[in-house]
Amino acid sequence: MSVLDPHLARYAARAKGMTASEIRALFAVASRPEVVSLAGGMPDVSVLDYDQVAAVAAEVMASQGDVALQYGGGQGSPELREQLCTVMRTEHVSARPDDLVVTAGGQQALDLLARLFIDAGDVIVAEGPSYVGALSAFGQYEPHIVHVPMDEGGLIPEALAETLDRLRDEGRTPKMLYTIPNHQNPAGVSLDLERRQAILRLAEDHDLMVIEDNPYGMLDFKHETRTPLVTLAPERVIYIGTLSKIFSPGMRVGWVLAPRSVRDRLVLLKEASDLCQSNVTQAIAEAWLRTQPWMDQVRAFTELYRERCDVMLAEIETAFPAEAAVAAPTGGLFAWVSLPPAIDTGAMLPRAINARVAYVPGRAFFADGGGTQQMRLNFSYADSTKIAEGIRRLGKLIGEELTLLEAFGR
Ligand code: PMP
Repeated sequence: MSVLDPHLARYAARAKGMTASEIRALFAVASRPEVVSLAGGMPDVSVLDYDQVAAVAAEVMASQGDVALQYGGGQGSPELREQLCTVMRTEHVSARPDDLVVTAGGQQALDLLARLFIDAGDVIVAEGPSYVGALSAFGQYEPHIVHVPMDEGGLIPEALAETLDRLRDEGRTPKMLYTIPNHQNPAGVSLDLERRQAILRLAEDHDLMVIEDNPYGMLDFKHETRTPLVTLAPERVIYIGTLSKIFSPGMRVGWVLAPRSVRDRLVLLKEASDLCQSNVTQAIAEAWLRTQPWMDQVRAFTELYRERCDVMLAEIETAFPAEAAVAAPTGGLFAWVSLPPAIDTGAMLPRAINARVAYVPGRAFFADGGGTQQMRLNFSYADSTKIAEGIRRLGKLIGEELTLLEAFGR
C-alpha cells in the first residue's frame, strides 16, 4: 500500500498513470491578478447581456418549469435539437433534429466517441498540434495518436497521404482522423475547400472515419463560411458542435451529428454516463436561440476577438525576435507561435510566470513530445491593453533567454 495514496493498488490499469501535468500546477500560480494570462481558452462572456439571459431563464421557468426541472430523454430535448439544426444551417449543414444527440459540451461528445470507437492500441490520426482536451479524452482509452503536420493552410493533405500509406505498409490501419478544420485549436488556421476535398478523398481511399470538431466555425474574422466536411461526406464524417463559443460554455450544451447506427449507440452511452443532459440548460439554450438575435451576439464575440488578435499580432511583430513565426489566425481564440529552436517553451514557462505572463507550452498539444519550441497564446479573454503588456513581457523574456543561450554557446 502506498503511503501517499492508499487507493493506488485499486486503480484500473489505465488510470494508474494519471497525473496532473506540471503545466497545470503552474497555472494555479498564473491565476494571480498580476499575471497576464494568455494561457486559458475562455470566451469573454461579458459580451452577453446577463439581464437578458436572466429574463429568458425566468420565462422558461414560468412557462415550462415542470419540463425544465424534470429528467429528459437520452438523445436531448427535441425542441433544442430543432434549434441546433438552425444553428448548423448558418454553416450550410442540413440535418434533422433526429440526426443529433445532445451532449454536455463538445468535450463529452469526444469522450463518448472515444468510448464507442477506441480500443487500447488503436491508431488515431490527428493534426499536429491538436486540441489538448481531445488528446486527453482519447488518451483514456490508450490509443496511439499519430500526428500529421500542418502549415498556414491547416492539415497538409500530402502529409496525410504519406502517413496513411506508411501506416498501411506497417499494418497499422488507423480507426479515425480527428480534425478541427476551422480556426483550429491551437494553430488558429483553417482548411480551404480544396484541402477539405483532398482529405475526404484520402479518407475514402483508406476507409477512414473522420471526426470533425467545429466549435469555432462561426468566429470567422472575415465573416466567411467554410463548407463543413460533413456536408461533403455525411456517411463518413461525425460532426461535433457546441454552444460554448457562440453563446456560453456555462450552459454545457454540445451535440453530435452522426449516421443512425452511431447515434443510437451514442444515446446508450450518454444514458450510461449521466442519464440525460440537464433539462434546465437545454430549455434556456433553446429559448435563447428561438427568441434572441443570437447571430448579433456571435458577431460581437467575433469582432472583439478580431480586434484583440490584431493587437496581439502587431505587438508580436515588434516585441518578439525576428525568427519567431506566427500564422495569422483566420478566426477563433488562439495564435500559435514558433520560436527559435534553442528555446524550450516548457522550460521557459516558470520564468514567464515570474515575469508575470502565462501561455500554454506547445508540447501540451502533441501526444508524441513535439511542440517544444512552440506556444499557444489566447486572445479572447484578456483585454487589448493586457494582451499588449503580456506580449511585451514575453518578448523581453524571450530576448533574455536567447542572449543567455548564446552566452553559454548553445
Ligand atoms: N473541441 C475543441 C477544439 C475545443 O477547443 C473545445 C473547448 N475549448 C472543445 C472541443 C470542448 O468545448 P465544450 O465542451 O465547452 O463544448
